[in-house]
Amino acid sequence: MSAPRTTPAPTPFAESEERQALRRAVGDLARRYGPAYFQAKARAGETVQELWAEAGKLGYLGVNLPAEYGGGGAGITELAIVLEELGSAGCPLLMLIVSPAIAGTVLARFGTPDQKQEWIPGLADGTRRIAFGITEPDAGSNSHRISTVARRDGTDWVLSGRKVFISGVDHADAVLFVGRTEDARTGRLKPALFIVPRDTPGFEYQPIPMELLTPERQFQVFLDEVRLPAEALVGDEDAGLLQLFAGLNPERIMTAAFTLGVARQALAAATEYAKSRTVWDKPIGAHQGIAHPLAQCTIEVELARLMMWKAAHLYDAGDDLAAGEAANMAKYAAGEASCRAVDQAVQTLGGNGLTQEYGLAALLTATRVARVAPVSREMILNYVAQHTLGLPRSY
Ligand SMILES: Cc1cc2nc3c(=O)[nH]c(=O)nc-3n(C[C@H](O)[C@H](O)[C@H](O)COP(=O)(O)OP(=O)(O)OC[C@H]3O[C@@H](n4cnc5c(N)ncnc54)[C@H](O)[C@@H]3O)c2cc1C
Repeated sequence: MSAPRTTPAPTPFAESEERQALRRAVGDLARRYGPAYFQAKARAGETVQELWAEAGKLGYLGVNLPAEYGGGGAGITELAIVLEELGSAGCPLLMLIVSPAIAGTVLARFGTPDQKQEWIPGLADGTRRIAFGITEPDAGSNSHRISTVARRDGTDWVLSGRKVFISGVDHADAVLFVGRTEDARTGRLKPALFIVPRDTPGFEYQPIPMELLTPERQFQVFLDEVRLPAEALVGDEDAGLLQLFAGLNPERIMTAAFTLGVARQALAAATEYAKSRTVWDKPIGAHQGIAHPLAQCTIEVELARLMMWKAAHLYDAGDDLAAGEAANMAKYAAGEASCRAVDQAVQTLGGNGLTQEYGLAALLTATRVARVAPVSREMILNYVAQHTLGLPRSY
């Protein structure tokens, strides 16, 4: 019988040394801030700029962006590691889903050299941010109905429309908007992507009061005849759908990382509590009514993480089609597993589960978001029914 190997070769299930080191380093940084800092800032309506800036300086925010523009030259796998570890230490930075993952990816893959030079170094070190706007009040999940229209006027573009639930507009330098060109005003979506600096005349935004304890807020955006130079268009006007999905798959993977990080934080807090809280003659964790649901949630979170890593690996390997299916499944699994995990964590703490001091109740809505955004679980079930199972389209 051969001796067991002490250092197993990296496999898709055993992370490389580099990835483990990244995970540890990000965790160390985030634990210096921690959930109490993060929630206090959110409650006070303040940003977590110190954490963002430090993570940017250390290269974590742009780990997926091209090295020639100041990024880390790695992939979505690494960016998902960063977000998961921030979340598991109580500091989930929502804008990582948007700024480096969507906008950064789309720019890196389809931007002109000038656009890359202008934006990517700042996205990579965190000194600049780009929000992302696709959702519209009258289109919702049906993005084929979006009505933000881009009209040509000489070499300029003139953009008009309305967006809703756009995260982080107030601290973004620009928003990457999804519109449609005038000659594709109706019918199936032929999207065109535009970078719109926030100070462009005709761009207005208003916060939406949300029941979420996060430092980032959501906004309605009004685009009233916003005049843009030709260079505001990102990529090819005729290949918008492909370009859009290049950003949406990372968005789904990163949403999974966000919510699974939060779930890990909640499960860790609940497990600690269950080990020490004694109301009869042994810790409550000795009761199977407490232990088994925590074990079950741990299994479900781990399964969702596996799917997330599969999606991230496929994406980084350049297999957009397979990554699309896996990213949808991962986002679905992560949303379901994390909602159940946080709910069970709250239950484990009894009354303390609902106190501000323990900070778990706020995670209920944070994880709940992942069942709705960026694509709802029903729309993922529609996708799997239609594309994976080949069932007839129901809508
Ligand atoms: C915290 C937060 C942050 C967000 N950030 C951003 C952002 O930065 N940028 C951005 O563009 N958007 C953002 N969104 C918007 C988000 O992507 C949308 O809320 C989401 O896509 C759902 O759209 P909707 O809210 O219009 O719901 P609707 O489309 O109105 O759907 C309502 C319900 O009906 C169900 N439904 C709809 N159609 C079908 C169907 N055919 N079959 C079965 N069920 C169906 C849905 O699943 C859902 O449960 C954010 C949302 C939240 C909550």
